Amino acid sequence: MAIRYQCDRCGKRLEPDDPNRFVVKIEVFAAADHITITQEDLKRDHRREIARLLEQLDKMDPDEIEDQTYRSLRFDLCRECHRAYLRDPIGSE
Ligand SMILES: [Zn+2]
Repeated sequence: MAIRYQCDRCGKRLEPDDPNRFVVKIEVFAAADHITITQEDLKRDHRREIARLLEQLDKMDPDEIEDQTYRSLRFDLCRECHRAYLRDPIGSE
């Protein structure tokens, strides 16, 4: 059975090799992920801080944790929606 594609924006049916099918891939991640560790940081006792973070993580929804760290999204779009998407990729209109 062939994989069925449809536009994630308007629902229009798209063929797998459709020249009118466009793929949008979005990666969202925290920009502060790459933290610089200083000499001062290394000297500090982090055990209490880590225990506190683990306690926080324990109470959080796993999906919520993932949303805060890394998220990758993929959408299929038809030609019209692709054009509309490129006009306003972050929905600021
Ligand atoms: Zn569409």
